[in-house]
Amino acid sequence: MSLIPKSHPRAKSLLIREKLVDGFDNGLVAKEGLLAQGRGEAFDYLLGEKTSKAAMQAIRAAASQLLLAEMPVISVNGNIAALCPKQIVRLSKQVKAKLEVNLFYSNEKRKQAIIKTLKKNGAKEILGSKNTSSKKLPGIDSARRIVDKDGIFVADVVVVPLEDGDRTMALRRAGKTVITFDLNPLSRTSETANITIVDNVTRAIDLLIIESKKLSKKNQKTLQKIISDFDNKKNLRDNVIQIKNNLTRRAKIA
Ligand code: ATP
Ligand code: MG
Repeated sequence: MSLIPKSHPRAKSLLIREKLVDGFDNGLVAKEGLLAQGRGEAFDYLLGEKTSKAAMQAIRAAASQLLLAEMPVISVNGNIAALCPKQIVRLSKQVKAKLEVNLFYSNEKRKQAIIKTLKKNGAKEILGSKNTSSKKLPGIDSARRIVDKDGIFVADVVVVPLEDGDRTMALRRAGKTVITFDLNPLSRTSETANITIVDNVTRAIDLLIIESKKLSKKNQKTLQKIISDFDNKKNLRDNVIQIKNNLTRRAKIA
């Protein structure tokens, strides 16, 4: 149970942290996942802990890309299962994407715990659990390259929230269109993905669900235009400028 008072100035951030710690205690999150959260938190602080205009543009492009996809797949890791299991299942239903458990630090017990959590939150089919379905992505070492032959392997669009740079690069080399959530606009994943949503996944996922619902009423041409108007490199630059402006403001106050 949470002992964090709502009035605490960092309540939201602490509650997210608590979800991760609970996820770790329940066997969902890897130790490394806790460290990744810490890195994310630092960037969230610098970004002002709110969804920027740039992030909103990336969310619109991501929603359009998912709606136009023929075979979209959402990759789920321990942090996502701990932070927003309900929303990730909801998103998969909204855009008709498959869910695949795909872990950077592969571990059968953890995988099963994640699958159980997703099922508890309404998921029907979850890929990535059968050894007979595993296939190797080229250009990446060891266990990290295993994907499901009916999922990521054949997907055209893959959502990889909180992903490592090597894996993102391997997915791009395999010809996938990659969408990611990453609070660090400087990470290799951010730079490699086609669409990077620089925002906390706990905030942005709800917005992506809402936007997907809204845009599902638009025609293909409109969605295509949203995607072609989106420039990921420029979007990342805008996020860096946001950080710079926030710091400049703080430097003046201090
Ligand atoms: P890369 O491998 O892409 O260069 P990295 O090695 O710095 O990045 P990883 O641990 O591989 O980082 O990936 C995790 C990424 O997820 C980090 O960039 C971190 O900022 C981001 N992250 C962590 N928690 C969240 C969150 N709640 N929402 C969005 N992004 C997050
Ligand atoms: Mg990394």
